[in-house]
Amino acid sequence: MVDAADAQAIAKRIQGIRRHIPQRVRLIAVTKKFSADIIRIDYAAGIRDFGESQVQETIAKQQALTDLDDITWHLIGHLQSNKARKALEQFQWIHSVDSLKLAQRLNTLAQEMGVRPQCCLQVKVVPDPPKYGFDRSELWPALPDVAKLDCLHWAGLMSIPPLGLSAEETRFAFHQAQTLQSEINQKQLPNLKLRELSLGMSGDYQSAIAAGSTMIRLGTALFGARPAANSY
Ligand SMILES: *Cc1c(COP(=O)(O)O)cnc(C)c1O
Repeated sequence: MVDAADAQAIAKRIQGIRRHIPQRVRLIAVTKKFSADIIRIDYAAGIRDFGESQVQETIAKQQALTDLDDITWHLIGHLQSNKARKALEQFQWIHSVDSLKLAQRLNTLAQEMGVRPQCCLQVKVVPDPPKYGFDRSELWPALPDVAKLDCLHWAGLMSIPPLGLSAEETRFAFHQAQTLQSEINQKQLPNLKLRELSLGMSGDYQSAIAAGSTMIRLGTALFGARPAANSY
C-alpha cells in the first residue's frame, strides 16, 4: 500500500524532474515490480506514459486500472515471441525490438490484429554480449528487411549502456546511439525515419538528454528502490 505521504513525495519528485528536463523529452515512469497504486499516484501527478518490462505483470495492473483510459503503455523489457500477441494487445509502444525475428513476428501479428504499434530497435552501441539488442554488425544487414515491415511504425532507437561504465563512457555510448540514428536516417530507407531516442534511466538521464534523448525511462529516481519481489 502507498500512503498519502508517499504519494506526496512521489508527486514532488515528478514535478522536480519535469522542471529540469526540456519539454521535448517524454518522461516514462517505469513501474515494473510496483503496484497499480503507484500508477494511480503518478497518473494524478500528470504522468500518462508508463514503462513495464513484463507482459503478464502489466496485464494484472491494467485490470486494476481500467478507469484510467488515456495511459500509453511502453514495453521496455525483452519480449518472447510467444507473448508477442499479448504485448500488442496491451502496449502501444515496444521499445525492445531486439531481433529481426521478433520484428517479423510483430509485423505479422500487427497486420492480423489491425494495430500499428510504435516500435524502437534496441541497439547495443557498446559490445555487451549477455544483453539483448542488435549489435552494430547485425543491425546494418538487417535494416533493409526491417524497413519492409510496414505494419509497424518505426519510431526510433532504444539503448541501455552496459553496467559499470564510467559517466564519461556512458555519455560516449549515448552519443554513439545518436550518431547511429542519424546514419540510419541518412540511408533514407522507406519506413525508417527514426525520430525518437529512448535513452536514459535514473542514473544517467541527464547525459542521455544532452545526447538528444527524447524519451527517458525512470524508475528509482521517482519511486526509490524497487521491491525485490513483485508487489503488484
Ligand atoms: C528498469 C528499467 C528502467 C528504469 O531503471 P531505473 O534505474 O530504476 O530508472 C529503465 N529502462 C529499462 C529498460 C529498465 O528495464
